[in-house]
Amino acid sequence: MRFAEERSEIVKYGKYLYDRGLVSGTSGNISIKADEATMLITPSGACKGMLTVTDVIEVSIDDGRPLTDGKPSMETPFHLAFYRERKDVKAVIHTHPMYSTIFAVAGLRVFTSLTPEALLVLGREVPYVEYATPGSDDLAAGLKAAMGEATAFLLDKHGAITVGRTMKEAYHRMETLEFMAEMQYKLIAIEKGDPLPTDEIEKIMNLTH
Ligand SMILES: [Zn+2]
Repeated sequence: MRFAEERSEIVKYGKYLYDRGLVSGTSGNISIKADEATMLITPSGACKGMLTVTDVIEVSIDDGRPLTDGKPSMETPFHLAFYRERKDVKAVIHTHPMYSTIFAVAGLRVFTSLTPEALLVLGREVPYVEYATPGSDDLAAGLKAAMGEATAFLLDKHGAITVGRTMKEAYHRMETLEFMAEMQYKLIAIEKGDPLPTDEIEKIMNLTH
């Protein structure tokens, strides 16, 4: 079996996402760029907490064709868009965590400038991607347009995406995004919470370079 290590990574982080309550039922999908020509992605309709290495499907990055048996996730088009457009991206996680999805459905942004940690882990902003039907080329095109160098995204009326140079980095970003969404939700309830001052934001952003 090719890419045994990468397949194990998908199984391991699928379980982390499930155990942390960041995915439920059979929702969500995760992928890894195994080599320049090949993406590994979770199958359609599988619980991310119960995957085995043989469930993971190889897909051609060039033309989107499955290279092994099984049906790849319906969101294959936007996973491919990241690997085609962003050389730095080696892993993509898409889920519908409760608080991030509340913001996505309400049409609200998650702000990273509320804490130093969020700025360091997620960068300056979380782009908000306009609604398009799940699995469609339109959704992939919307992401391509919003992509820039961002590491986390909210999908209108749908959920969240994080990307990373490793699966571990994408996973930490999803946890942090959901933490920030939950915190912001609670700050709204107590009508408090201002962003860090602009000069402090710059200072923190310079720590990452
Ligand atoms: Zn989804």
